Amino acid sequence: MKYQSSRGKYGAVSAAQAITMGISPDGGLFVPDCIPSISTEILKQMESWTYQQRAAYIMQLFLEEFSPEEIKACVNGAYNEKKFDHPEIAPLIELRPGLHIQELWHGPTCAFKDMALQVLPRLLTTSTNKIGETSEIIILVATSGDTGKAALEGFRDVAGTQIIVFFPQHGVSEVQKMQMITQEGNNVHVAGVLGNFDDAQSGVKNIFTSNQVIEQLQQQGMKMSSANSINWGRLLPQIVYYISAYVDLCQRGYIQVGEAINIVVPTGNFGNILAAYYARRMGIPVKRLICAANSNNVLTDFIMTGVYDRNRSFEKTISPSMDILISSNLERLLYELTGHDSQRVSQWMDELKNTGRYTVNELTRSQVQEIFWSDYAADTETLESITRVWDKYHYLLDTHTAVALNVYDKYLQQTGDNSSTVIASTASPFKFGSSVAQAVLSPEQIEGKNEFELLQALAVYTGMVIPEGIKNLDKRKIQHHTVTSAAEMEEVVFSFLGIE
Ligand SMILES: *Cc1c(COP(=O)(O)O)cnc(C)c1O
Repeated sequence: MKYQSSRGKYGAVSAAQAITMGISPDGGLFVPDCIPSISTEILKQMESWTYQQRAAYIMQLFLEEFSPEEIKACVNGAYNEKKFDHPEIAPLIELRPGLHIQELWHGPTCAFKDMALQVLPRLLTTSTNKIGETSEIIILVATSGDTGKAALEGFRDVAGTQIIVFFPQHGVSEVQKMQMITQEGNNVHVAGVLGNFDDAQSGVKNIFTSNQVIEQLQQQGMKMSSANSINWGRLLPQIVYYISAYVDLCQRGYIQVGEAINIVVPTGNFGNILAAYYARRMGIPVKRLICAANSNNVLTDFIMTGVYDRNRSFEKTISPSMDILISSNLERLLYELTGHDSQRVSQWMDELKNTGRYTVNELTRSQVQEIFWSDYAADTETLESITRVWDKYHYLLDTHTAVALNVYDKYLQQTGDNSSTVIASTASPFKFGSSVAQAVLSPEQIEGKNEFELLQALAVYTGMVIPEGIKNLDKRKIQHHTVTSAAEMEEVVFSFLGIE
């Protein structure tokens, strides 16, 4: 299997090359040239497999030139009891009959990003060895909060790599910020950007595609790559848990093999839900992929109208990891739905860059609507969902997962479709503890407490344990102090790397 650029001007490359490069030089994203399928027979067999075995099987289909031993080493090094605090890795919880929550946040940084970022560094070093790449790999990351920490944890002290993370200085939660600026490791760099996530992401994209930067790094024996979901090595491990959720539902007798389910994903950059789309293309029976947005509802409008328009004000919400107006991975979906029409995709992406909007053709729009459904939740609705679910089921949702639940309730009401449904739960409630506290604690319990004291109060009230990755964060030593304007990100990169 080869990988092509979605803009059609680069490729075909091997999986190892696509993962090493991260993004295609023509500005496009790497996409597999065909999508393997998984038979009903295999799905049945998987019922008796561990998460690690399922992951190895599925990833092998896309990583043809990796040996089974190499894949096994990547998978077992990532998904084990030292890194994950749940033996099932991505456990499925039944909230009420027909509605299941897949907890994707049992890794070291308490968000679903660990599912991919624990394995990506291993895939990357295996890839560079395979293609004989000897340059030092510089991982550049723009983060809306959770990718940054997960990437830092994944890449810390990985030989042959350095990692640089840019986060919106005023656009992440206190917990998220502390997680990043207290990061230890001898190859890690962190900077706050005076701007929002889109500014940080555009800055990183510009650095990636700047010939001048590429040449200057080359002279130092360095090459850039990406740990954002533009890297195929990020998406692939995410396909695994959707297939695994389906297999779990069959294995526990909630559904018959072949029966269609719905999947609800709280969405920002469209990476996580795109992985669910690939799972569907591989043969997992999925009726609807429900794209849940917060009030930055550019994707909801796109799915309902076929018009993508980022010309709107950027809202800061209590689900900050979804505060995004340019959803990079939509490009891959458009490439798939147009039958790999890279010319058309390039045209839309140019329009997006130049005017901030594009309109897809009728056929693409109707395909999108056949597969996807979308709505959004405002912050007040998100808080209400957290309160309601806690009161009714004694289950504590984080703000992002609560957006998904809120939108799912709207879907149920509007469509009456009561097929079995899986909600991707993307973060531990403690990661966004101060907002969650507002939804479940009384004003007296909240008054006068800072974000970290609120976590403690939340733990006491719910009887839950604060996860290891968040505990005592406020007492750790701050390691990183850099703050930059978006315009000066390139200089910051050079300075971090010790280049004049
Ligand atoms: C990153 C993130 C999202 C959004 O995922 P995308 O792949 O960007 O759509 C949702 N929730 C949480 C907690 C996240 O960290």
